[in-house]
Amino acid sequence: MGSGRSLPPSRDRIVGAFRRLVSVSMRAERQARNEALLRDVNERRAAIDRHAGGSWADPTELFEFVCECGDAAGCEGRIEMTLDEYDALRRQDDRFPVVPGHESPEIETVVERHERYVIVDKNPELEPLVEDDPRGAPSR
Ligand SMILES: [Zn+2]
Repeated sequence: MGSGRSLPPSRDRIVGAFRRLVSVSMRAERQARNEALLRDVNERRAAIDRHAGGSWADPTELFEFVCECGDAAGCEGRIEMTLDEYDALRRQDDRFPVVPGHESPEIETVVERHERYVIVDKNPELEPLVEDDPRGAPSR
């Protein structure tokens, strides 16, 4: 079926690049929503851990957090962090802790790599894409 072949190659490339961008941006959007939910889960965990003795606990004590990779299928990954490590990470808005290997290089950048977890930062060039929803797009 070579019926699409009449398009000039440059246009093909543009269409291909556009499709890739749309698919990446949809993925980024879905992931951003999941990550916001997961961040909530982790915020609650940190609050509970702190109440449960985090403030006088050994500062090197590890607490369990959920992986915030935002995998559409629902990631079951768990990360161990100290409350200090967790607080340092939250000081920057768009940073997320994920299980090593759960990072998605096309939509985020690894900013810190530890043995127990990896911290990723959203690629800023994707943010406008995610916000620029085409009008009239069917609601998902
Ligand atoms: Zn994960």
